[in-house]
Amino acid sequence: MVTRTPGQPETLTDDPWDMALRQFAGAADHLGLKRGIREVLSRPHREFTVHFPVQMDDGSVQMFTGYRIIHNGALGPTKGGLRYSPDVRINEVRALAMWMTWKCALSQLPYGGAKGGVTCDPSRLSAAELEHLTRRYATEISPLVGPYEDIPAPDVGTNDQIMAWFMDTYSMHRGYSVPTVVTGKPVVIGGSAGRREATGRGVMIAAREAARSIGRPFAGSRVVVQGSGNVGGVAARLLHEQGCVIVGLSDVRGGIHNPRGIDPNAALARLKETGSLAGYPGADAVSNAELLELPCDMLVPAAIEGQITGKNADRVKASMIVEGANGPTTPDADDILRARGVTVVPDILANAGGVIVSYFEWVQDLQAYFWSEDEINRNLERLMVRTVGQVTRFAAEQDVSLRTGALIFAVKRVADALMTRGIYP
Ligand code: NAD
Repeated sequence: MVTRTPGQPETLTDDPWDMALRQFAGAADHLGLKRGIREVLSRPHREFTVHFPVQMDDGSVQMFTGYRIIHNGALGPTKGGLRYSPDVRINEVRALAMWMTWKCALSQLPYGGAKGGVTCDPSRLSAAELEHLTRRYATEISPLVGPYEDIPAPDVGTNDQIMAWFMDTYSMHRGYSVPTVVTGKPVVIGGSAGRREATGRGVMIAAREAARSIGRPFAGSRVVVQGSGNVGGVAARLLHEQGCVIVGLSDVRGGIHNPRGIDPNAALARLKETGSLAGYPGADAVSNAELLELPCDMLVPAAIEGQITGKNADRVKASMIVEGANGPTTPDADDILRARGVTVVPDILANAGGVIVSYFEWVQDLQAYFWSEDEINRNLERLMVRTVGQVTRFAAEQDVSLRTGALIFAVKRVADALMTRGIYP
C-alpha cells in the first residue's frame, strides 16, 4: 500500500500544485505565452475556504474544513468535482481546479475549471452525518455555485446521493428545483443516462484509440488498474469487455494479481460484499506500490495523484499508462517514462469522459429534454475519438509527449479566450 502522511507529499515535486504549475510552465514556454497571460493562468481566480460545524449522531459538534477553488472561467461557467477525503488540502484542490480548466478546454467544452473538497473520511461518517456535512458545505459555498456560475460534480469519496443532497439544499434556498446546479445526480432528479460509467468508458476509449494511433494491439493487452471506484471499477469492467486481460486490481487497502486474468465483475462484487478485494480466488495479494510495478502492457492509475514518481517510474513495466486519475504521474516520472519510451495518455485527455457527459447532463437539464443512453454513449465516443486523434497527431508532429501536446492545445484555447475577452476593466 502507498504510505504517505495524509495530505503531505513525499517531496516538494510531488506536491500537486507544484506539479500543475510545472506542467503549465512547460506548455506556456512552448507557446511563448505573454508574461501577463501566464501570470493570470498560473493563479486560481477565486479561493474559498470554509470552516463549519456538523452535528454528529452522538450529539457532539465537529468542525470540518472545506474548499471551493475556481481556477479560470474564460471559457464559461466553471466545472469540477467535490472530493471528500482525509487528504484534501488546499494545494491539492488548486491543482485539481487548474487541471479542470485544461481538461474542459481540451475537449472544447464551454466551461472553465474549478474543484472543491472537504477534509473528512466519509467511510467513518454515517449516512445522516454525510448528509448534514454535505448540506452545510453546500450552503457555505453557495455564494460561488450556480447553474451559470460554477457547477460541481462527484469525485473521490462523493457520489450521486451526495449530488442529490447538494442539489436539494441549493434548491431549498431558492424555493424551486435547480437541477442544473450539479451534475452526476441520480437520473430520477435530472441526472443523465450513462454519467455513472462515463469516466471509465472514456478511459477505455482513450486507451483503445491511443493504442491504435501507435500501432499497438489493444484486445488481449494485459492491464493493471489501480483503484476500484467510479473510474477504476468501470474502466476495468469495460476493458475486460473489450478483450483486455485484467491482471491486477486494487483499492485503498491493497491489490490482487493474477497473470492469467481476474474477472473484474466478480472481484468488484466481492469488494462490495466483503469490503475488500483480498482473498479473491486464484489471485495473490499485492500492495498498491507493488501493483504499479507488475508485469503488464497497460497501467491504468485510477485512484489519486502522485502515484508514479521519480522513485518508481523506472520500475514500471507497462509500455502504456492511461491516467484514469487526475495527476497520478509526477513531472519527474514523466521525464523518466518518456526517455524509456513509455506512452502516457494524460489525465486531461484520458479521464475527460466524466466532464463530457456532465456537460451533456447540464445541456439536457437546461433544455428539460433527455437523451437515450445510446445517444449519450455515441456522443461521448465521438468527442473522445476526435480529441485523442487531435492530440496524438499534434504530439507526433511537434515531437512532444501526449501530455505536453494536450496541455499546449488546452492552454492555447484558454489563452486565446482570455486575450479575446480582454482584461477588465
Ligand atoms: P472513488 O472514490 O469512486 O474511487 C477511488 C478509488 O481509489 C477507490 O477504489 C479507493 O479505494 C482508491 N484509493 C483511495 N485512496 C487511495 C490511496 N491512497 N491509494 C490507493 N488507492 C486509493 O473515486 P473516483 O471517482 O473513481 O476517482 C478516482 C480518480 O479519478 C481521482 O483522481 C479523480 O479525481 C479522478 N476522476 C474522477 C472522475 C469521476 O467522474 N468520478 C472524473 C475524472 C477524474
